[in-house]
Amino acid sequence: MNQNKYASKLIARHKNTKARVVEVTTAHGNFITPCFMPVATRAVFNNMGPEDAADTNSQIILGGNTYHMLVSPGMEVIQHAGGMHKFMNWSGPMLTDSGGFQVFSLARTNPKNCKIDETGVKITHPETKNIIMMTPESSIITQKTIGADIIMAFDQCTPDDLSVDEAVQIMHRTHRWLVRSMEQHAKQPQSDYGYDQALFGIIQGGVYQDLRLESAEFIIQQNTDGIAIGGESIGFDMEKTKLIMQWLEPILPAEKVRYTMGVGLNPQDLFDVVRMGVDIFDCVAPTRNARHGALYCGKIEADVENNWLKFTGTENAEARILIKKSIYKLDDNPIMADCKCYTCQNYSRSYLHFLFKSNQVAYTRLACIHNVAVMQLACDTMREFIINQQA
Ligand SMILES: [Zn+2]
Repeated sequence: MNQNKYASKLIARHKNTKARVVEVTTAHGNFITPCFMPVATRAVFNNMGPEDAADTNSQIILGGNTYHMLVSPGMEVIQHAGGMHKFMNWSGPMLTDSGGFQVFSLARTNPKNCKIDETGVKITHPETKNIIMMTPESSIITQKTIGADIIMAFDQCTPDDLSVDEAVQIMHRTHRWLVRSMEQHAKQPQSDYGYDQALFGIIQGGVYQDLRLESAEFIIQQNTDGIAIGGESIGFDMEKTKLIMQWLEPILPAEKVRYTMGVGLNPQDLFDVVRMGVDIFDCVAPTRNARHGALYCGKIEADVENNWLKFTGTENAEARILIKKSIYKLDDNPIMADCKCYTCQNYSRSYLHFLFKSNQVAYTRLACIHNVAVMQLACDTMREFIINQQA
């Protein structure tokens, strides 16, 4: 049995920005940042197999979210399979989320079905009406059964539109829940299958600078294995995300992995957060956009103003094409000229246009491979750039 201890090591800093390269060791292998994590919250990517994810240069994935896995297929199935790695046939590093964000989404859309108090959250599933009780302790226990290499403290996600007082309350509860998550994790530092697991704490504090700093200081004091930055704004509102990172970066410990949760609506977002000192990120958008016919299309070039890199659209300012448009009907070009992904190496826009218009299942897989590959191309290019221009 692999008993690699989780470890992170800073191996390069960019001379002109806060960007870094960190090498991370997990029980299921190493990864080198910056890294985009494709999302398989329901233990499956959108029609991509794990071998497709590996083919896009994905080093680590976000596999099987705690809340979704509790709902279906349930923990007995995951346990029976021997954990999420075996269940979904991914042998590399994996992170899973604690369910905090799903609770937040559910509370937003179905407030009646979601009761939050100091103990935890009682959720009535909107369709099955089954009741799920989630606490910091039960979330950690579930993540032991999922068996991911990086697990997350159970937190309460902060919506953007809260008053300072409300944001303070959520932040303090998140801190108390972190302590409870850590106590549960300390009872069994390994997964149910004997693999070492790292626990990350999550910084909340909404859009308030003093709260973000207070939350960061608390998380840093707890000495968790890595540090996540959460809340509704992160990834969703990139101007706020960048501002929050600007506040936090100076106090974050250099050796620990920084994870912005939910960043990656567009390739450019990755350039923006890595420049601010972030190492890993996940987002459902690349596969969701792909499914809906929005395919990333641009090129990576110098961002002179910021001494950095940027993703510039080659066809339009949005840096994506809508494959349903009739202009692609006879277009023999690949989706994106510089892309080396399986889809771009083998298929034309014309073919993808046809698959999309005729609702072929094969379309989604090819489209997802491309969009995820562009995110990884961004990461690979940044990593090389940082190493070539080290401080
Ligand atoms: Zn491609």
